[in-house]
Amino acid sequence: MHEMSLVQYAMDAVEQRAMGMGIRHVRGVYLVIGEMRGALPELMEYGFRVLSRSRPLFFGAVLHMELRSVEAQCADCGRRYGVREFHGVACPDCGSRVYTLVQGNELYIESFEGE
Ligand SMILES: [Zn+2]
Repeated sequence: MHEMSLVQYAMDAVEQRAMGMGIRHVRGVYLVIGEMRGALPELMEYGFRVLSRSRPLFFGAVLHMELRSVEAQCADCGRRYGVREFHGVACPDCGSRVYTLVQGNELYIESFEGE
C-alpha cells in the first residue's frame, strides 16, 4: 500500500526530530500533503494507526492532514489556476499552455506535538 510507505516516511522524520528534542511521546503529527501524491486520507490514517502500535513513541498519537490541491502558474501572464486533469492544461485567462506547478506535490511535516 502506497499510503503505508508515506506514513512510514512521515513517522521516521518525526521520530528523528523528536529524539533530538528529547520528546518521549508524540501526541499529534501535522502533515501537509499534495494531491499529486495520490494518497487517500482514510488510508493514511489507517496506516498511521497500524504503524503506531509497534512504535511506542506514537502510542495514541493522532495524524492531522492538510491536503493541498494541484495548482499551476501561467508562464505568460502569471495567473494561478487549479489543475484537475493534466491532459490539455491551459491558462483560463490567456490560453497559454506553458506553466509551472506551484502546489500539489507537497509532502512534509508542518509540525508535531508531544512531551
Ligand atoms: Zn495565462
